[in-house]
Amino acid sequence: MHPRPKLFVSRCLGFDHCRYNGAMINDHTVELLAGLCDVVTACPEADTGLGVPRDPVRLVMAGGQLLMVQPATGLDHSEAMRAYCAAKAAELKGAVDTVNPAGLPAVDGALLKSRSPSCGIKDVKIYRKAEPGAMFDSGAGLFGQAVMEALGGTPVEDEGRLKNYAIREHFFSCLYALARFRQVALAGKPGGLVEYQARHKLMFLAMNQASMRRLGRIVANPEKRPFGELLAAYRVELGTMFSTQAKPGGFINTALHAFGGFSDQLSVRERSLFINSIEEYRDERIPASALLALLKSWALRFEVDYLLDQVFLEPFPKELVEITDSGKGRDR
Ligand code: SF4
Repeated sequence: MHPRPKLFVSRCLGFDHCRYNGAMINDHTVELLAGLCDVVTACPEADTGLGVPRDPVRLVMAGGQLLMVQPATGLDHSEAMRAYCAAKAAELKGAVDTVNPAGLPAVDGALLKSRSPSCGIKDVKIYRKAEPGAMFDSGAGLFGQAVMEALGGTPVEDEGRLKNYAIREHFFSCLYALARFRQVALAGKPGGLVEYQARHKLMFLAMNQASMRRLGRIVANPEKRPFGELLAAYRVELGTMFSTQAKPGGFINTALHAFGGFSDQLSVRERSLFINSIEEYRDERIPASALLALLKSWALRFEVDYLLDQVFLEPFPKELVEITDSGKGRDR
């Protein structure tokens, strides 16, 4: 049973017609997530009074400072936007207190509108002046930057990058792992953290073996630290691991390790099916979920309970598994 992650989403991604031209973006992945997550939204431009529809804004680098201006009206919207960003960032960041001893952020992930001067997290056009002219640089939008800083160690992506299935699978895996961690933190039982570490062992091994070991040491708690401190240290290490896109090699080694548990009970043709599928995954022709489906079917057939308990086999709900990929944005 998967938890319902808390997800922050740019409001124009299917929640309101709040784009500068009164449009809304319909994105299939966001639609799927909306049904499975507790979503909170914001539209920094509409929320700061620019109205809908409105004249577009752009980012201008002037005197070493990144400004948000509205060329058609000459408005400098930077101050209002920065104040809004600071307030929203504080909300998202969360605070360490008795209700939230691990200092968990308000959400388990964020999905922002690509390339927007407000919400973009990368590739946003930056100009030298408000007047027409070529862009001279690119970077994050003002709000996108604030969200990434507030949610360090929590996955933040844009809907364009999620067209790449490697990025999408990493984002979903981290989103759901953090939602499960939130459950453990709220339950407040040390045994819950031990079980969490055990169930995520193969997933973490696939992502980063060194981080997996460090997480194991935190859970072992040789210093006998209080549980709140333990949760906070564990969450920091989780965030460090999740902030780097998992490499295919780690996943392949872990899949082969799991496969080794029952490969001698498979036929020659089944074994070669798996080895060929590994190569297809390595060549980015099939997603990780295709290999996991094979492993799960054999784990069920041979009743490998240890493997069936591993989050690695189904890190996020099946509804989010898609075998299509645009082929765009394969750079990670
Ligand atoms: S990209 Fe951000 S600011 Fe622009 S319409 Fe969407 S939610 Fe609003």
